[in-house]
Amino acid sequence: MNEKNLPDFGNTELAFRHLSDKDLGRGRLLFELLSRPWLVAVGSFMAKLALAIRFPISWAVKPTVYAQFCGGEHIAESEATIAMLYKHNVRTILDYSAEGVDSEKELDITCSEILKTVEAASEDPRHAFAVFKPSGLSTNGLLAKDKSKFSQTDQEAWSRVERRVRSICAATAEAGGRVLIDAEETWLQDAIDELAEDMMSDFNRETAVVYTTVQLYRHDRLDYLKDLATRAEESGFIVGIKLVRGAYMEKERERADRKGYPSPIQIDKKHTDADFDSALSFCLDNLDKVHLFAGSHNEISNLSLCEMMSDRGIENNDPRITFSQLLGMSDPITFNLAAHGYNVAKYVPYGPIREAMPYLIRRAKENSSVEGQTTRELTLIRKEVARRSQSISN
Ligand SMILES: Cc1cc2nc3c(=O)[nH]c(=O)nc-3n(C[C@H](O)[C@H](O)[C@H](O)COP(=O)(O)OP(=O)(O)OC[C@H]3O[C@@H](n4cnc5c(N)ncnc54)[C@H](O)[C@@H]3O)c2cc1C
Repeated sequence: MNEKNLPDFGNTELAFRHLSDKDLGRGRLLFELLSRPWLVAVGSFMAKLALAIRFPISWAVKPTVYAQFCGGEHIAESEATIAMLYKHNVRTILDYSAEGVDSEKELDITCSEILKTVEAASEDPRHAFAVFKPSGLSTNGLLAKDKSKFSQTDQEAWSRVERRVRSICAATAEAGGRVLIDAEETWLQDAIDELAEDMMSDFNRETAVVYTTVQLYRHDRLDYLKDLATRAEESGFIVGIKLVRGAYMEKERERADRKGYPSPIQIDKKHTDADFDSALSFCLDNLDKVHLFAGSHNEISNLSLCEMMSDRGIENNDPRITFSQLLGMSDPITFNLAAHGYNVAKYVPYGPIREAMPYLIRRAKENSSVEGQTTRELTLIRKEVARRSQSISN
């Protein structure tokens, strides 16, 4: 306990009480393996190769990385995860991550699947939000294309994209829910921003139903957030905002380098962290017109958000603020926040194993490359294993 009654992310008893000894053991083994970058590099290469030659890998992936980071192959199979999370006051965001879909038929299938997540969340308090990636509803080519250069065919395809996005937002509003629009690479993001702002303007008149995403590893996004809040106030809608640091840093830098334009990414991590903090604080200072969703695995950011709320006299369970982490990651943050009454939700990715592979490879790489994060998670898991065996022997 501390003066402001902030959560202690080092409290492993609260952090891992949702895990059986067996699950904790699996987590420990997995994070031990992920802490070896060379092993992750070899594993990722093998997984990509197996996918390319259609070699069956489900038997190896399902009980290991898939069980750690995904809910199940479909919504019904994710039920146990949803129930377990809710038992510990953590809500679910079902994340159907179809990646690299391109045909109109596949885009329609993704849209129907996302509508199923909206329906699953309807009147079920265990769910916090629905979510979608715009690149699951449009081809990347169309998102990236200059709208003023659209052909007749492009225009028709774009109308179908708008229709898919609108159908998800309308169904969410109808169900009294909320929906997050993920942020993607900069060359796709202008089109996504436009779509997201249109949807917020249409559906966020009374409260925030649609949330757009701002990536603070971009040096232009703090200003974008402030301008968006001003535009929203002028037009009379509430901004729903998911703040994240951003997932595509290497890709962004590499492309900017290759194409010879200035990198959209901050010059270093310190600048990203500073803008992330400023964005948190901006949202808290404008809560009447900006509702906040903080997606981060960074202990300091999560703790400073708690502290900023406390300093401003904002209740831990203020419905305008949600904390969030991904399933299988940063449980010490998630479950300690939940135990302190904050609104906290986990992204629960689900889908067929083959389709989840790119997501799993990203999680593996992220866990092996984020400085200190895996080490911290592993240290806490080891601490809890020791605490449990100590309490058995006492
Ligand atoms: C619930 C949730 C939803 C998410 N949704 C999205 C989304 O819609 N779109 C998206 O892009 N990402 C999304 N992410 C991923 C997120 O953007 C980060 O990649 C990830 O969470 C790691 O950042 P962090 O804040 O957790 O922690 P940290 O470990 O503190 O930060 C790592 C991040 O800092 C930034 N960074 C690292 N090194 C540097 C450097 N040298 N210079 C500048 N910046 C640097 C990068 O963004 C890196 O990912 C989401 C994450 C969560 C938890």
